[in-house]
Amino acid sequence: MSITYQARQFFDGEKMHDNATVTVEGNQVLSLAPQPGAQMIHLDGLLAPGFVDVQVNGGGGALFNTDTSIEGLSRIREAHSRFGTTAMTPTLITDDIGRIETAAEAMAGAIEQQLPGILGIHFEGPHLSKPKKGIHREKFIRCITDAELAQFCRQDLGKVIVTLAPENVPADIIAELVSQGVHVCLGHSDADAETVMAALEAGATGFTHLYNAMSALTSRAPGMVGAAMADESSYAGLIVDLYHVHPLSARAAIRAKGTDRMMLVTDAMAHVGSDKSALPFFDTVIQREGDKLTIEDGTLAGSALDMASAVRNSHLHLGLPLTDCLQMAALTPARYLGLEHKLGKLLPGYQADMVLLNDQQQVEKCWIGGQPV
Ligand SMILES: [Zn+2]
Repeated sequence: MSITYQARQFFDGEKMHDNATVTVEGNQVLSLAPQPGAQMIHLDGLLAPGFVDVQVNGGGGALFNTDTSIEGLSRIREAHSRFGTTAMTPTLITDDIGRIETAAEAMAGAIEQQLPGILGIHFEGPHLSKPKKGIHREKFIRCITDAELAQFCRQDLGKVIVTLAPENVPADIIAELVSQGVHVCLGHSDADAETVMAALEAGATGFTHLYNAMSALTSRAPGMVGAAMADESSYAGLIVDLYHVHPLSARAAIRAKGTDRMMLVTDAMAHVGSDKSALPFFDTVIQREGDKLTIEDGTLAGSALDMASAVRNSHLHLGLPLTDCLQMAALTPARYLGLEHKLGKLLPGYQADMVLLNDQQQVEKCWIGGQPV
């Protein structure tokens, strides 16, 4: 049974079309033409590839670190699909080895069950820089041992991203992680540019929330930010909630990296998709004021950002073409994960992960693998 969607506007992942059709059969896009016998559905809005979020800690009141279960993952996914995210790597922040093992076990279960929208796991820490820890708990920040390596290198977790500080993890360990299929991201780091370049040489391919919690770019010391901007092949995540990064700094970084290397991420906490303003975080509480999340001392504590807002902010406040914003939210993160033949476009053979946006770039409807969610 196939369905032909006729959309007032259609973004196939690279090009915008007016009054286009896309026919979905099963979980895939069958063609960009109406099919005889297919049910016809008219959509008054912009149909685009669903968003892919590679950094998302929680949603719907659930935080992955606390709700380390398949149910927790489902809740986080559901909360974000309301905002157009159709695929994600739930992100575990710095924690003890027991929690890392439990999170990995939950992810292995989700991957085995083919939980819709869950691509794999992002371990953000624990091998970070203490001076750049942000809200990560210092007591859990530590050197890498065989115990963490064994979890990161499991082959049953789907896509695995590890964010680490390269001054604290030797280049040969980075190379070993990469050889096991891990996507190594650099972040929460005070490394100088030379150390960063050595980590890229060893196989690291990404930067976690560019600018935030990393050595800054200055004239004589390029730091991690300078190295990230100068490097052509690596990817970077950017939190466009207008609190983490100034709009001009965001524009500068996007001009440097290009929309084919810059990924919009939410870094969302449990608050997204929840009406609670205060939610627990380890031994403290994260408070929401408007769209800003902080702990008691005022430190930014992740974000209350959703992907549709990231797209909208990039379009309205950074002044970028909507097509660029949609690419940074879908095709670029899909390519970063090596899934650009399956996700990030709506062409024949691609998974039917779709989002319908109204003229204010708010989500009207969302489908994962052709199924409305
Ligand atoms: Zn972080």
